[in-house]
Amino acid sequence: MFASMKHAKIRLYVDQPLGVGQSVPLSQGQARYLFAVMRLGVGNAVSLFNGRDGEWQAEVAEAGKRGGTLCCIAQSAAQQDPPDLWLLFAPIKKARTDFIVEKAAEMGAARIVPVQTDFTNAERIRQDRLQAHAIEAAEQCGGTFVPEVTELRTLTKVLDGWPSERRLMMPDESLAGKGASLGATPGGPWAILIGPEGGFSEGERARLTGLPFVTRVSLGPRILRADTAAVAAMTLWHTALGDW
Ligand code: SAM
Repeated sequence: MFASMKHAKIRLYVDQPLGVGQSVPLSQGQARYLFAVMRLGVGNAVSLFNGRDGEWQAEVAEAGKRGGTLCCIAQSAAQQDPPDLWLLFAPIKKARTDFIVEKAAEMGAARIVPVQTDFTNAERIRQDRLQAHAIEAAEQCGGTFVPEVTELRTLTKVLDGWPSERRLMMPDESLAGKGASLGATPGGPWAILIGPEGGFSEGERARLTGLPFVTRVSLGPRILRADTAAVAAMTLWHTALGDW
């Protein structure tokens, strides 16, 4: 149904309803990006998505310095949600934390949960900035889904309220090179937990090892940086259980 349709190169995430003839108001930032930076004008095409209704082709109806409106013409791609996979990670240095969020959004995380562990050296995160990175990654990679980036939570609290049907894959640096793999594991909802630069504390490792829903794995014989480990772990999971 969508194969023949032309997709406008410029893709924009809008938190607005999308549908045939739907008028979409633009924020000042979106108007500046489309009209000043990308130099679009009335009649030009834009691909829109809102994370729920697939991708839509739209046209610029009004273009101004501080705002504008687009008009939805037709749907150009169906909504494609990722598998039910959460990425939990301990925030590291800002740029590398941004990288983890961006890659998780591109690679198909359904939710991104920054967690404070014993050795995490970041006391807080800018959730709004990280959410913007996830949106930008979806715009760039042609996705129609945007994962929620939650506020920073302690690992203890996250585990205390853990949904029992969700399994947790824990790349554990103490298993480096010991060949511990995912093995034959059930489908269903999953999560991945990546530790901080300092790794997991003994107390965390003892608690996680004792939890029935946890599968500890190795990511090979070399110790990876946390941002590399996040990408490696998502690759491992997706090739075994995901939608790749
Ligand atoms: N400071 C730790 C050390 O030297 O052992 C390394 C922690 S590593 C930078 C950050 C996280 O990446 C770890 O907590 C783990 O989740 C993951 N990781 C890195 N390399 C790994 C490997 N070879 N096997 C399993 N997990 C790994």
